[in-house]
Amino acid sequence: MSIIDEMGTDTSADLRRTNLTRALRAVHLAGGRMSRAELARELSCSRATAAALVGDLSALGLLHELGAVATGRRGRPTPTVTPAVAAPAVVALEVGVERLRIATSTIGGTLEDLAEASLITGSAETVAALAAELLEARIATLGSRCVGVGIGVFGLVEQSNGLVLEAPNLGWRDIDLVSMLHLPSHLPVRVNNVANLVAVADSIRGVGRGCETVIYLHASIGVGGTLVRDGRPLLGRLGIAGEYGHLPLGGADLPCRCGLRGCWETEVDQFALARAAGVGTDARGAATTADEVFRAAAAGDPSAQAAVRVTAAAMGRGLAALVDVHDPDLIVLAGHAAHLHAWAGDIVEDAARSHVLTSHRERLAPIRPTPLGDGAGLLGAAEDLFSLVLSDPVTLARHASGRGDA
Ligand SMILES: [Zn+2]
Repeated sequence: MSIIDEMGTDTSADLRRTNLTRALRAVHLAGGRMSRAELARELSCSRATAAALVGDLSALGLLHELGAVATGRRGRPTPTVTPAVAAPAVVALEVGVERLRIATSTIGGTLEDLAEASLITGSAETVAALAAELLEARIATLGSRCVGVGIGVFGLVEQSNGLVLEAPNLGWRDIDLVSMLHLPSHLPVRVNNVANLVAVADSIRGVGRGCETVIYLHASIGVGGTLVRDGRPLLGRLGIAGEYGHLPLGGADLPCRCGLRGCWETEVDQFALARAAGVGTDARGAATTADEVFRAAAAGDPSAQAAVRVTAAAMGRGLAALVDVHDPDLIVLAGHAAHLHAWAGDIVEDAARSHVLTSHRERLAPIRPTPLGDGAGLLGAAEDLFSLVLSDPVTLARHASGRGDA
């Protein structure tokens, strides 16, 4: 009798299922590699119980155990637990303004086979057609190993139905992206805002892990963010909270692509940096132009250096407002916000310090870039899916073995 068949619905089977989930999540969060002894410690169980759980998860085709290797430390050698060779995988897709990026991720959460395609136009039909092509090829390559698709969009996404309510920098309103992708109906799909996904990934694998109150700020073309409390993004009624970029913190009252004036992002994002440096660009050239400004600043170009300073100061000033509102333990930056901090962190922090309330000034919450780099959004899209599928290892194994819901 297989493990799947043994799984009933009584209490002991439920407990077994819960323990299998905890063991699988532990290996996933450890990056897909941990010793059986570490797993036992993590689960607060005996090595024998850990061995039994790993045995069951191996029989399900989810994990694989490598032979015991002596570590040189005291104690018995212990086997190492890794994902199975054909372990389930999810596909992560990021819909940016300039490009699509796609990657595969399996248990352990690293990104594999990262590829990208440039966008010539932001039209939803064109973007969806290219995305569908990339996804179809990737899903076909993975075969039954593919257990879901996580999608990040640079825009506001209604959490309950995945509808892209507004993506000002793509020119989208009320776009049902998922229905335009024609994905296999058995695959779960999640769509989320990239800024939210950066927060999801960093809360699990970055500097925000274990922190109580964290402000995440993600900038590129536009600025978004998320407030995370005890590892949970606070997304609000529609799931679109954290649109920090459209707070009226821009002193120059410039028109924003959202239709308002004076939005913070008009002085902070990649467009703002290009404009401050006196370089004209369109949406699809803004990231490249921003990189060129950073490089020119590093090479000593005075106007590029002034542009970086002005933009970094505008970011710091807005961060001060967010600190006053949320009183965070930590501020985590991603994308262009992290690049600005890397080039002019002292200016960001001085501007933040000089605009916060006195009580915050002497002990300003640390401002850190996410260590996950520019892949944070894709990692978050994968984690968004893993949070769904890892909660039921038996069903996950059924799907990954091609047996579906039968
Ligand atoms: Zn705006």
